[in-house]
Amino acid sequence: MAEPKENPLMEKIVSLCKRRGFIFQSSEIYGGINGFWDYGPLGAELKRNVKELWWHAMTRQRDDVAGLEATIIMSPQIWKASGHVDTFADTMRECPLTKKRVRADQVEPQSGTAYTFLGAGETKKIEAWLNLFPHDLRNQKIKLLLKPWEQPAFGNVLAGEKNPYTPPTDYPDNLEGRIQKEAFESIKRDTILVLLPIGKPEESVIKKAKEYYYANGFYEPFLFEAWTIKQSGQTLDSIDYHPESGFLLSPPRPFNLMMETNLGPVVSADSKAYLRPETAQAIFAQFKNVLETSRQRVPFGIAQVGKAFRNEVTPRNFTFRSREFEQMELEFFIKPDEVIEAIHGSVFRVHGSGSENSDPGTLNREPQPNWGWEAWHKYWVEERVRFYEGIGLSRETLGFHIQTKEELAHYARACTDILFKFPFSKKDEHGNVAGDELEGIAARSDFDLSQHQRFSGKPMGVFDDELRAAWAKLPKEKSDELWKRYYENRKNYLTKSAKPDETPEQISQQATEDANGLAKGQYIPHVIEPSAGVDRLILALIANAYSEITETDDKGKTETRVTMKFHPRVAPIKAGIFPLLKNKPELVKKAQEVRELLRPWMNVFYDESGSIGKRYARQDEAGTPFCVTIDFDTLGEKPELLDTVTIRYRDDGKQERVKISELLDFLLSKIR
Ligand code: ATP
Repeated sequence: MAEPKENPLMEKIVSLCKRRGFIFQSSEIYGGINGFWDYGPLGAELKRNVKELWWHAMTRQRDDVAGLEATIIMSPQIWKASGHVDTFADTMRECPLTKKRVRADQVEPQSGTAYTFLGAGETKKIEAWLNLFPHDLRNQKIKLLLKPWEQPAFGNVLAGEKNPYTPPTDYPDNLEGRIQKEAFESIKRDTILVLLPIGKPEESVIKKAKEYYYANGFYEPFLFEAWTIKQSGQTLDSIDYHPESGFLLSPPRPFNLMMETNLGPVVSADSKAYLRPETAQAIFAQFKNVLETSRQRVPFGIAQVGKAFRNEVTPRNFTFRSREFEQMELEFFIKPDEVIEAIHGSVFRVHGSGSENSDPGTLNREPQPNWGWEAWHKYWVEERVRFYEGIGLSRETLGFHIQTKEELAHYARACTDILFKFPFSKKDEHGNVAGDELEGIAARSDFDLSQHQRFSGKPMGVFDDELRAAWAKLPKEKSDELWKRYYENRKNYLTKSAKPDETPEQISQQATEDANGLAKGQYIPHVIEPSAGVDRLILALIANAYSEITETDDKGKTETRVTMKFHPRVAPIKAGIFPLLKNKPELVKKAQEVRELLRPWMNVFYDESGSIGKRYARQDEAGTPFCVTIDFDTLGEKPELLDTVTIRYRDDGKQERVKISELLDFLLSKIR
């Protein structure tokens, strides 16, 4: 499994995750499967806590968000409507040797000397023919027979292209002729380019070329000297060579990331279905059902947590880019700006929002009725940053990427990515780390609901009596202006998403109907989408929590101890419960009582083996924020301390005495 070996911190993290049972390679006993990861006992708890906290913050803590749990496999029509069938593709390039694919925009730059190999023959056959000639004539013979060949110019040769060599057609009608025929018909002319990294011996590139020809049908490839061409200068920082094999990559090709499956007993074009590549589409498809059953009114959101699958070309950076992962997505439906303006007279303008400003800045935390998409977008960026802060990712560990016009999907108005500074995140030329994407918050206009309306034929609009009443009172000038703006937006969408047989007249007519709907109180809601990855967040929390201390004892022995400084809210185990000694039944009994007291409320870990110091160290590595020790004072050795326990804090090692009767409230106040 390709892991970032050059990153020592990542190596330590990956190794701790396995050693302590946070994350294991999926199918490890069979050598693993690329892009799939399993969460062990501590990882499963951590993940569960994160999802619970998200769900809590997004749904139960709010009046304006309802939950959904949809299936992974849905009607393939959904993916047609969403655009995934046609456009959900990464451009990728393939290594001709290993067939490994890399994303065209993610090839690590390589430097070295390029070698072109214009083909090979089968050694045994070539040698049999050469043996017919005296030694000193052999090279000359080969050159003669390879003559009808022109050297292609450098840079024009692409892997897989043939060189123009053609074998002779006439052979003498004797033994020599037969051997010659065999030798020269064995020659294949697959051209390959391989980069020899600076400092590596030439043999390594020859070996690779032979590996390629071996993989392409030769028992023992024979490389002709005249067909092995060394580039005169050095190639610097080229993104055209595979970083592992050095082979020139194939031209970029789109590669659909959706995983396919078949439904039912007969595999046919009709049985094809997809494992969802995102959870969001189910929310759009169920929009009407949720709206009707939850008694919500726009603005409101639908939240979902669940698995998503993408056939990523290059899964990498541990769990960061996996093929199976989980998402936590909210679709927050809002009124179009024209509707806000019709009802409230104007739309609240946010200074420096969306595409202009990376600083989440300040916005009233209480949503206001006159907020348009800009304010809602900014609001959700801020809410999400607050969520991350609340589980221990400080603002300094985060970054922002505001998508440029060129990066944005044609229907999107803005998209702000919240980044985390992972150990593998790249530095820019000034040494600053921007980070890698944890979550994207997109203002997606009314694209998704409109698409499902068009593809399913079912109305996705809403009726708003406040709009109808307000519209009736608008001065004609104002209603005309709003009508026109809404009409233009709809026409723009309809034009971009038009089916091949739709005419401009039909599009105008549809846009007119849509704009006429405003007067009747009808519109298609717009949406703001905060879409976060659970696995990336878990990795961020693990990287953020990882801390080591190296101590040297009196005898000069050094030891490195790891403490996982998880925020108590996400920590997999909230408290370790230790009887001071395991051979004192009264201590054990009391400690077990404490465990039973806490257990219904939080995940605790009872441990009676080893010294207290060892038990602390084990819990530090698991990231347990509190350890509770039951000692003789708990039993009343000092009467004033009867029924009290010691709490030891993970991060500073400080201890304090707490009454058992107050322990639960004390811990709950820290972990909630
Ligand atoms: P990227 O550009 O990194 O491929 P994306 O922009 O395609 O990500 P979205 O489609 O916006 O990602 O998905 C929303 C979130 O889902 C991402 O912010 C990320 O946290 C998570 N996610 C997406 N793809 C993966 C993956 N392959 N492995 C793990 N998490 C992922």
